[in-house]
Amino acid sequence: MANPYWSPVVHRLTPYVPGEQPKLSNLVKLNTNENPYGPSPRVVEAIQGELSDALRLYPDPNAERLKQAIADYYGIMPAQVFVGNGSDEVLAFIFQALFQHPAPLLFPDITYSFYPVYCGLYGIEYVTVPLADDFTLRIADYLRPNGGIIFANPNAPTGCLLSLADLEWLLERNRESVVVADEAYIDFGGETAIALVDRYPNLLVAQTLSKSRSLAGLRVGLAVGQAGLIEALERIKNSFNSYPLDRLAIAGAVAAFEDREHFERTRQAVIANRATLVAALAELGFNVLPSAANFVFACHLQRDAAALAAALRERHVIVRHFRQPRIEQFLRITVGNPEQNAALLAALGQILTDG
Ligand SMILES: *Cc1c(COP(=O)(O)O)cnc(C)c1O
Repeated sequence: MANPYWSPVVHRLTPYVPGEQPKLSNLVKLNTNENPYGPSPRVVEAIQGELSDALRLYPDPNAERLKQAIADYYGIMPAQVFVGNGSDEVLAFIFQALFQHPAPLLFPDITYSFYPVYCGLYGIEYVTVPLADDFTLRIADYLRPNGGIIFANPNAPTGCLLSLADLEWLLERNRESVVVADEAYIDFGGETAIALVDRYPNLLVAQTLSKSRSLAGLRVGLAVGQAGLIEALERIKNSFNSYPLDRLAIAGAVAAFEDREHFERTRQAVIANRATLVAALAELGFNVLPSAANFVFACHLQRDAAALAAALRERHVIVRHFRQPRIEQFLRITVGNPEQNAALLAALGQILTDG
């Protein structure tokens, strides 16, 4: 209840609710889009190499080695790269640095539910733009006065991809405000917009190492844009915390970008597992949206989604269900490894035949 010591802003906040991280170990955990495969062994080695007396020293406040590794990977300049403590932190800085304008921020009615939370924190007005009936994003609907535009691409929790051509169509016409592509899942089925950054000074691309690089526990995210936008993020960061990335995170993240073979192999495995999972879910009577991500968004044609999620949980399989208009009959299911997917499908098979 109301605590007299709270600042007024705390009373007004509606915090984000992350997917559950259950303490039980025997669960098939398909609720938070973690990678079923471990990170590169070179990441683990690099982190172990940092475990020394050097921990008494602060890390590099600019994480220059990491910015260079990311710049090398994408063929860009380090001055075009910003890094932070997970892309959630990077996004928070983006909202604070680039979206606090008189005109409202635009984002889809169904998207990453952290966006309205940041708006609440920073007092940013926003307008949600409805997705089409098939949950695709209609880019022309964003041609209206705005103080910024953000969407996840592929979108979450739908998995639907917006083409680079559509994004560029918008960038050609929306030049007065910053457009952010939150590419948390791009490596599972899309093409990054980083190639467009040199041509559009108002484009910012955010990515994370949590999903395709299997490092959700390390907390590393990044943004790529022209140096002017990056400088805005650095100004916020250096007014907030000089060392958002610790020594272990910097060393591990550098190794993650260097080990291209591991990245490619695990990413392709997830993509292959997704195809198998989608076919099996369709077989069980689900309508599955086309997914370019490491999760699928599926609606059973006969069964209530909340009831299915509860029945799966009884069988130790955890998926995500959102009690939200338009999508309350959908389940968001992370693509697991073949064993996890088989366990999910076996549980669903039982639930659906039990009536
Ligand atoms: C997972 C996710 C993030 C956050 O990633 P972290 O780097 O783990 O903070 C950001 N945006 C979207 C759309 C995500 O799904």
